[in-house]
Amino acid sequence: MALPEEHRPPTPPERIRQEYALRRRRQAASGVPVVILAIAVALGSGGGGVPVLVVGTVILAFFGFSLVNWRCPSCGAYLGQRLNPERCPACRVELRD
Ligand SMILES: [Zn+2]
Repeated sequence: MALPEEHRPPTPPERIRQEYALRRRRQAASGVPVVILAIAVALGSGGGGVPVLVVGTVILAFFGFSLVNWRCPSCGAYLGQRLNPERCPACRVELRD
């Protein structure tokens, strides 16, 4: 059983940076389908273009994933629109070297 938040030992800084690096890679990877979709929409592929349902699903999936993934490994705060923040905007923990 997981301990309640306030009783957990603090995460070592090294572990936070490792977890942040992993999350940043996942975040970058999750943007790939969005870029491919944007290119497909721009090119108007498939004759009638990309169906609205596909565009909506990919965009919603991207934002949904971001909301879960793009968080501070230490406090869980959303990291916002910045691509590679140095510190968490909420707890100020260092996220990278
Ligand atoms: Zn934080």
